[in-house]
Amino acid sequence: MALKAVKGFNDILPDESRRWQYIEQTARRVFELNGFGEIRVPIVEKTELFSRSIGDATDIVEKEMYTFTDKGDNSVTLRPEGTAGVMRSFIENKIYALDPIAKLYYMGPMFRYERPQKGRYRQFHQIGAEITGVNDPLADAQLLNMLTLFFREISLTEPTLQINSLGCPECRPNYRRALQQFLQQRIETLCDDCKRRFTTNPLRTLDCKIPGCAEATAAAPSVLEHLCNECDNHFNSVKRYLDLSATPYSINSRMVRGLDYYTRTTFEMVTGLLGSQSAVAAGGRYDGLISQLGGPSIPGIGFAMGLERVALLLENKDFTSNPELFIATIGSSERDMAFTLMDGLLKSGIRVEMDCESKSLKSQMRRADKLKCRFSVVIGENEIATGKAVFKRMEDGLQSESALTVDGIKLLLGAVK
Ligand code: ATP
Ligand code: MG
Repeated sequence: MALKAVKGFNDILPDESRRWQYIEQTARRVFELNGFGEIRVPIVEKTELFSRSIGDATDIVEKEMYTFTDKGDNSVTLRPEGTAGVMRSFIENKIYALDPIAKLYYMGPMFRYERPQKGRYRQFHQIGAEITGVNDPLADAQLLNMLTLFFREISLTEPTLQINSLGCPECRPNYRRALQQFLQQRIETLCDDCKRRFTTNPLRTLDCKIPGCAEATAAAPSVLEHLCNECDNHFNSVKRYLDLSATPYSINSRMVRGLDYYTRTTFEMVTGLLGSQSAVAAGGRYDGLISQLGGPSIPGIGFAMGLERVALLLENKDFTSNPELFIATIGSSERDMAFTLMDGLLKSGIRVEMDCESKSLKSQMRRADKLKCRFSVVIGENEIATGKAVFKRMEDGLQSESALTVDGIKLLLGAVK
């Protein structure tokens, strides 16, 4: 029996890859424009990095990590997200010593042992960006504007920006208590996961996708009413900067994140087109993370977007590209001429195909059709003798003559659109 890929792990075939490249290239362009530089960190890290940063009582650390013991008896984990590794590197390489304000981005595979479904896989890919060293809400707004610009640049206006504040270690415990008090009376109606979350991570109940839990928490107190003065001011400034730059957003006071390191501003780009896989990108501030990982006390903010989900939103956009020309040949002696022409055209950046199997003219033309070549030309004895040939535009049969030279053909392809 032929072997199959592991469940939840996908092949990305060329047509799909073109969509991905478009997303990746747009992200690079927009991020570099905003002064970000790419950082490439390993896929495998010590398990401790993730349990210490993401938090022991999170879904990711409790159930979703690909953790194993290597041959040296070390517990290692395939990264479930990017920020922890980037911040480990930021500390280890003392990037902050040069300048605590770093703007970094990354892209690559992440791994979580989740139930595979549309928009949710075990190996998935994220593009993320982080800003360190700035407390000012201006950094939050710059990052959100960059994310919004990215979606505009890939021509997607549908995912909308939602923002919230999760407070800080000063004010969040108050909210946590208020929420627990509220949940206490409804605990019997919560799902088993949320019953557990009630003690370990009550904020996560607001994010539960089970309808009964959503109903039970519908009237829960709002985190925004429990913010301390500093957090409240910070959130108000973020909103003011977004208003100043005319960035559309809405406030979602029920938004929590599945990672413990978030403080203050959190946000998601949300789509209505992918069912319950509604978050296309997500992120927030993590002012305590760098010191928690043993680094200096430097704040940070970042986001990650799910490449597969962005690609699903771009499903209707056509990314196939077709050859400019198919060179068909009649006899074997013409193939040398065709081959040299093809080589010359390829070297000047023009996409050309020709027959490699000495097929009949009819089957060569079928292939030209199948490849959706823009033009075709047939080279026979006569064409070799005169050094000229008739080029046919495939869509309507329009014929134009050109010299059988690289320059001549280039001229023709440029002139006849
Ligand atoms: P969700 O609520 O959908 O599980 P999350 O809160 O776990 O998302 P994050 O950890 O914030 O997601 O990751 C950022 C983005 O990465 C998500 O918004 C989503 O687009 C994408 N993502 C997360 N998990 C997966 C997965 N298993 N498969 C595909 N994409 C994913
Ligand atoms: Mg998740």
